[in-house]
Amino acid sequence: MKKIEDNPNFFLNKFNKYNFDDSVELILGTTKTEVEIALHNAFLKKTEFSNYLAFLSPNADFYLEEMAKLSKEITLERFGKTIQLYAPIYLSNECRSSCLYCGFSYENKINRITLNEKQLKKESEILAGKGFRHILILTGEDYSKTPLDYICNSITILREYFSSVSIEIYPMESIDYQKIIESGSDGLALYQETYNKDIYKKYHIRGVKKNMEYRLNAPDRGGIAGFRKIGIGALLGLANPLGEMFFLGLHAEHLIKNYWRSLIQFSLPRMRPAEGDFTEIIKVRDREFFRYITALRLHFRDSGIVLSTRESPNLRDHLIGLGITQMSAGSKTEPGGYQGVKALEQFQTEDKRSLEEIINIIKLKGYDPVLKDYDRAILK
Ligand code: SF4
Repeated sequence: MKKIEDNPNFFLNKFNKYNFDDSVELILGTTKTEVEIALHNAFLKKTEFSNYLAFLSPNADFYLEEMAKLSKEITLERFGKTIQLYAPIYLSNECRSSCLYCGFSYENKINRITLNEKQLKKESEILAGKGFRHILILTGEDYSKTPLDYICNSITILREYFSSVSIEIYPMESIDYQKIIESGSDGLALYQETYNKDIYKKYHIRGVKKNMEYRLNAPDRGGIAGFRKIGIGALLGLANPLGEMFFLGLHAEHLIKNYWRSLIQFSLPRMRPAEGDFTEIIKVRDREFFRYITALRLHFRDSGIVLSTRESPNLRDHLIGLGITQMSAGSKTEPGGYQGVKALEQFQTEDKRSLEEIINIIKLKGYDPVLKDYDRAILK
C-alpha cells in the first residue's frame, strides 16, 4: 500500500477550517429554545450537527432529564440491555515522548518494562481465566522497544486467548495498520488528547507525540486499513471541554462519512493524577461529563461509548443504561500488573472492583454483561 499521509481528504483538512475558541463561543451562545428544538429533532430521529452542539451547551442542563430519558431509549433500541466488558493489557511503559500529564513520560525516572512472551502469556492466562474475551493492548510511544513486529507477535499470542484484540498504541502508517489487522486485531483506539493546537503544543514537548497533525490523521489511516472499530476521544481536563467536544463530534462525522466499514466509537477519559507534577487540570464535573455522554448518544445513535475505570464506582453504576455501551473492569494500568509485576501505573484507577463485582452490578441493574460479542470467522 502506498503512503498516503498527505491525503487532502483526511481530517486535518477539515480541522484546519475551524478555530477552537470560536467553537467554544458558538456552543456558549446556544439558547434554551435551540436546545428544545434539538430535543424535538432527536425525538424525530433527525438531529443535525447544530443540534449536537446545543446538547453540549450549559443551557442543555435545564433539559438533562429529558435528554437522559431519550438517551436511555436510544441505547436500548440500538444496543439492547447489554454492557460489553473488556480489560486493558499494558505491554510496555517505555516511551520516548514527553507528555506533561502522563506517568510514562520520557523524563520520569520509573521502572521501564516491556513484557516478554512469557509474561504476556501469563497476563493472558490470568485475564482469560477470569472470563475476559475482549482485550485492549496499550504501549507507550517507543517505536524501537515495541516495534511493529513486537506488536504483531503480541497480537498473535493474544488471539490464542481472546476473540477480540484492540490496540491503543502509537500512531502508524496505513500499511502498518494493515499488518496489525492481519495479525488478528480488529479495533483501533486513538485519542487525540486535545484538539486545542496551543494546548497540544504546550503539553507534548518531545518525541513523535509532538506531531499533532500526524496523530490527527491516524484514525483516517486506520479507516483505510479497514479496522472494524475505531475509537476516538479527548482527554477531558487539558483544554476547554466544549471545544474538545466540538472537534470530537466533527472528527466522528468525518470518519463515519468516509469509512463505512468501521464502527466509530467514543471514549471521554477525564484527567486522573499520575506520576510527575502536572497540576493544571481543568475540572470537568460529573453533571457536565454526563451531559457530554448524552449529547454523543443523542446525535451518534449507532456509536459505542466506552467508560473506563478512571471513573468512580458510583458514577459508573449510574451510567449503566444511560448511553454507555462498554466498560473496562478490574483494570491494571502498568505492564505485568495482573501477575504482580511492580511497575508504575500510567494513571490511578478509581474503580478498583473486580470483574465479578462489575458483572453483579450490571445484572442488578437488569442488564446483561457481555464478555464476548465478536469473533473473526476463519475462512479456509
Ligand atoms: S501519553 Fe503516551 S506518548 Fe505521552 S508520555 Fe504517556 S505513554 Fe508516552
